[in-house]
Amino acid sequence: MKPRNKFQQQVFELSKKLSPISKKQKEWAFQNCIEHFGKRNAKGVITCTECGHSWQGDNELGDVLLGAECPHCATKLEIVNTRKMIFKQSAYFSIVTRKENFQVLRFFLVKYYAKAGHKAHYFISEVVQRWIAPNGRYETIARMRPMSYYNDVWIFYSKLEIRPEKDHHYINPACVYPKQRLIPELKRSGYKGDNIRLSHLTLFRTLLADSRAETLLKAGQINVLQYFAGKNFHYINDYWSAIKICLRNNYPISDVGIWRDYIDLLRFFGKDLHNAKYVCPADLTAEHDFYVKKKRDLQEREDREKKRQKALEDEKLFLELKSRFFGIAFTDGTIQIRMLESVKEVMHEGDTLHHCVFTNNYHLKPDSLILSACVNGNPMETVEFSLSQMKVVQCRGLQNKNSEYHDRIIELVQKNKRLIKRRMVA
Ligand SMILES: [Zn+2]
Repeated sequence: MKPRNKFQQQVFELSKKLSPISKKQKEWAFQNCIEHFGKRNAKGVITCTECGHSWQGDNELGDVLLGAECPHCATKLEIVNTRKMIFKQSAYFSIVTRKENFQVLRFFLVKYYAKAGHKAHYFISEVVQRWIAPNGRYETIARMRPMSYYNDVWIFYSKLEIRPEKDHHYINPACVYPKQRLIPELKRSGYKGDNIRLSHLTLFRTLLADSRAETLLKAGQINVLQYFAGKNFHYINDYWSAIKICLRNNYPISDVGIWRDYIDLLRFFGKDLHNAKYVCPADLTAEHDFYVKKKRDLQEREDREKKRQKALEDEKLFLELKSRFFGIAFTDGTIQIRMLESVKEVMHEGDTLHHCVFTNNYHLKPDSLILSACVNGNPMETVEFSLSQMKVVQCRGLQNKNSEYHDRIIELVQKNKRLIKRRMVA
């Protein structure tokens, strides 16, 4: 891709001036990014996969032999008992360097091919560069990569050019060249090549873009830096004043996820986030769990209260709509039918017969009357009667199935609908 702005132009021009990887760097990469094997055969003969030299090992074949040194090329070898003849590996290697005012990360793919008895072949090609400006802004230079291929496939004849950033540009190298060259802004930041569980890109970019990252690094709050570093570093805004209290009190935040959640809880309960008593608890887990429970209890109380309020309102509405029909009851001698006269009764009937009369709120429809049909005091079916149609619209027994009285119940309601009608005109 052609550079499209001044920044890309500058990066692209400078990238052309980067010196190629040195012989020393290459050798270090081959030595350290690739595992070197001594192939041991059934007779105990060891072959160095690096130079092809073979010699008779002294150890019994059954012995587990962890390592040996090739007497010919002095490579440290890991001994494997195998009949395999071909050894292949690939790994990423990176160099941390600088060019003018840019911090540069260079990523190389190392490929290794060895045939037992022959000298090993190596191949190394630079595939990605990251160029980070002193303000944290960065650009990616890379080769092309075929669509949907494995980790180590690149189009090596494609040029190192400015490319729109893709996931495959995030390379986690097997090893990093130990001699790192840093721009002054990073030297000042407190970074010393320490082993921080962040990619160099994320760490450097964060350190350069936001001085708070530097504060955290210098104070040794590495966990916090690791937790927030990256594109969303600004999420730290909400916690920064509390973090400052921790820094002032030399309080190490061990589990940042829990601590962050805990601060959110303190905020929820209106606690003073400038007070070390809250912000720096001696037992973080215990305090966190205490507030989690407190919040859960509160929510449960609120839920209960909401349900109670709703029930009260429903009961009021039900009374308004249906009280004029209260008292309606009739029987044919076997089946007793009567109005359900409260929301509670409707709910109870629904629970007993396991049907959906209550959950679907039929009892709160102005057009519906809900009646219960019992035999010997046991609920058989629940009847929904439509006032506009003056007829039974549904009649449901246990688990929505019809009981043996189903037809008789409907007939009995129809026969007595004048009792309902009379209340309507009253
Ligand atoms: Zn050798």
